[in-house]
Amino acid sequence: RDRIVGTFQNITHRVEAESERDNFFALSVDLLCIAHHDGRLLKVNPAWTTTLGFESTLGFEKSDLEQVRFTELVHPEELELVQAELQLLKASQKSSYFQARFRCKGGEWKWIEWNIEAAYYDNKKFYAVGRDITDRKRTEKSLRDMNIALRESNQELKQFAYVASHDLQTPLRSIAGFAHFLKDDYHGKIDATADDYIDRIIAGCERQRILINDLLTYSRLENGTVRQGEVDLNKVLSDVLEAIKLTIEEAKAAVTSDELPTVLGDESQMFQVLQNLIENGIKYNKSGDPRIHLSAKEENGEWLISIRDNGIGIELEQQTRIFEIFRRLHTQQEYSGTGIGLALCRKIVQRHQGKIWVNSEAGAGSTFHFTLPVPKLV
Ligand code: ADP
Repeated sequence: RDRIVGTFQNITHRVEAESERDNFFALSVDLLCIAHHDGRLLKVNPAWTTTLGFESTLGFEKSDLEQVRFTELVHPEELELVQAELQLLKASQKSSYFQARFRCKGGEWKWIEWNIEAAYYDNKKFYAVGRDITDRKRTEKSLRDMNIALRESNQELKQFAYVASHDLQTPLRSIAGFAHFLKDDYHGKIDATADDYIDRIIAGCERQRILINDLLTYSRLENGTVRQGEVDLNKVLSDVLEAIKLTIEEAKAAVTSDELPTVLGDESQMFQVLQNLIENGIKYNKSGDPRIHLSAKEENGEWLISIRDNGIGIELEQQTRIFEIFRRLHTQQEYSGTGIGLALCRKIVQRHQGKIWVNSEAGAGSTFHFTLPVPKLV
């Protein structure tokens, strides 16, 4: 008797799993493909159509990609890179990641980021997932371009400030020189009004000289680099006190200090900060008994330096504005100055990754605070 022998297997689960996988393949916005080692595209998903424009009527059809090889779509500038990556994959490497421009059907180029794996069970195939990153690349490029343009215009501005202040010095020297000749040769020989005019010219020149000098210091800072090193602020303070000895004596000021730390920074710039803040503390004082005190403490991993005075104080609404360049709260007659000192301090502190601010009350003295990095232990 003839017998039919058969086995039955329930494949419902397998069919279900396959259909689920196929759905993901069809739905993916990323470009998916299986390619042969020779570059032929064996299977592509519909994202190839939406992204690159190639027809693939059914998700799984190759249609007009049938004749094309993977590398034929790559931009000539990235071709070498892509070929090298595929070569590595064929040789042994498990997976590969790269970005390259791919040609669309219409001829334009799109940046695609690829993640490719060699198939582990079939050593003649690749699995590739590609993501369209054209927009990201475009944004990155325009950001880069903008940055370059900004840096250039910034550089020009800095150079302009430097050259302008430098060149302004020459005619000024000549005016001041001749004003002094006038004074030496004609003082007391014309009349009191002429003497007064000559004195005013000389005073104006002196003021202009200081202003230009301050501007030069400011723009030099912009153009220079920060020379980082360990700086003992106690030593900087004693250098400053030596440099402004006369000012301190004339004002009968008392400058005292707690032990100051060693910070990470540029010594000559630290000198400028301390000098400006101490000189201001002495200058903006009507008490006849200026007292300046420096102190320091470590806070949140950085040094906080404070300089307290018993001067005229600063109203709350002016307390941030005084750090702007040329911002002054007084006339030359009341207190002379250029309005650059605090702007300079702020620039220096910021370049040291620190902050600077003031606590004050009109009539009740001011305390300027700034932070500086703690030197790293080696
Ligand atoms: P300058 O002293 O040349 O005017 P600064 O930039 O050093 O320029 O200071 C800006 C302004 O901030 C000053 O004109 C003054 O009004 C105010 N100021 C600075 N330091 C003090 C201080 N210690 N006490 C009171 N006011 C101050």
